[in-house]
Amino acid sequence: MNLLPGPITALGYLIAAVCFILAIKGLSSPRTARRGNAIGAIGAALAVLIVLLSTDFEGSNLWIVLVTIAVGSAISVPVARRVALTNMPQLVALFNGIGGGAAALVGVIELAGLAAQADAGTSANEVATAVGIAIGALTFTGSIVTFLKLQGWITARPLVVPGARIWFIATVALTIGFAIAVAVSGQVWLGIVTLVAAAAFGVLLVLPVGGADVPIVISLLNATTGLAVIATGWAVDNVLLLVGGTLIGAAGTMLTLAMAKGMGRPVAGILFGALKGGSTSGSTEASDRPVRTATADDVAVTLAYARRVVVVPGYGLAVAQAQQTVSELVDVLRGRGVDAVYGIHPVAGRMPGHMNVLLAEANVGYDLLIEADDVNPGMPSTDVVVVVGANDVVNPAARTDPSAPIYGMPIIDAEAAGQVIFLKRSMRPGFAGIENELLFSPKTQLLFGDAKASLSAVLSALKDV
Ligand code: NDP
Repeated sequence: MNLLPGPITALGYLIAAVCFILAIKGLSSPRTARRGNAIGAIGAALAVLIVLLSTDFEGSNLWIVLVTIAVGSAISVPVARRVALTNMPQLVALFNGIGGGAAALVGVIELAGLAAQADAGTSANEVATAVGIAIGALTFTGSIVTFLKLQGWITARPLVVPGARIWFIATVALTIGFAIAVAVSGQVWLGIVTLVAAAAFGVLLVLPVGGADVPIVISLLNATTGLAVIATGWAVDNVLLLVGGTLIGAAGTMLTLAMAKGMGRPVAGILFGALKGGSTSGSTEASDRPVRTATADDVAVTLAYARRVVVVPGYGLAVAQAQQTVSELVDVLRGRGVDAVYGIHPVAGRMPGHMNVLLAEANVGYDLLIEADDVNPGMPSTDVVVVVGANDVVNPAARTDPSAPIYGMPIIDAEAAGQVIFLKRSMRPGFAGIENELLFSPKTQLLFGDAKASLSAVLSALKDV
């Protein structure tokens, strides 16, 4: 039922492509992100509609497509609605993997179509199909492994299997070799073997990545999904897939580089560090070393008499959903004449901009959010740093311990302030799974408890100071 003339289809694709570009532009700032997301969704819906209206479906194929869309939507909409912000990276990994897997399957099916043609053999289409199968399959399994790591269903630590380097090189060689064979011969069975080899490569690529690096790998796999989609777009001759794949590939690559820069690590070090004998350490065990504890009353008095306070939010703020309460505390302190601001680390939380998004929800003014590079020079003249549910982003091991998985990551220099107050629930380590010496410093006090409850207690104690 090809209901659309060619020029209308092309115009529809153009509008959808413009929507995708505007969506990415909108997503670059918390102020416009919601609108950007909506524009992207409209573009995607338009693209699906145009494909449906401009394709000649054979037999019952249309019904298979419609039922598949209905089942996919029935599963993904409630999952996306219910997911907590802190679990967003897992969801992105899962959806990303499904995109890569779809590209690989489309490649195999396309190969079957090409093989049926009389002049099957090396052509740009076979090459693109081989690339789409290989990259799509490795993206699928790599993303599933990152999902399992982030979800805590397998250990988040770097996993190096015996003979890892040999297996790694073997799967790379087999994937490339079989992909070339597919491009030359166009045989479907070779396409399936390529898919299996690339799938194994995807698992071996991600298993040795651990600790704080897993979310960066999600972003990298996002970029590879873009490549797989470009290859598939070429193979099935769909210009919108080419545009969409290019945007995903470029955005994923830029995000990967930005995150790696924020963590002070080269991308190659993140991917191959453990394989080359780097740190595979990391634990979730709580430390039993003694620390100085404080009550909410103590913290209220310390803050009330400070001149400058820097609040460093982290992942725990998101877990506790304490953004509103921390914003009230900063407002009360500022109302009392304390120079209270937020110190924002680029990789605090579990995704880029996580703290900005959280604090924007509580209508915190952007002028109070000071980036790490700008807040650090003022630390020696800061009286108190309040670390709210953060850990790795203030851990001095990033500077002092070359064996630490976060070594080289720029940190917020809380150690240089007069006093440090940690709000956390226990002595468990942060995401990287390493001890934080700052917790045991003579200038540090800990107020144990859920961040929201602790902040509320400090707020009410402040009324009596
Ligand atoms: P961390 O994971 O290092 O520390 C979070 C702290 O919050 C823990 O000490 C935890 O201690 C505490 N916490 C958890 N829940 C609560 C709660 N309800 N109330 C109070 N405290 C709580 O987080 P950071 O933000 O400091 O660091 C982010 C980590 O993620 C870094 O390692 C970074 O490299 C990594 N990462 C971030 C990315 C990003 O884009 N943002 C990307 C890649 C990696 P306890 O359990 O004792 O309460």
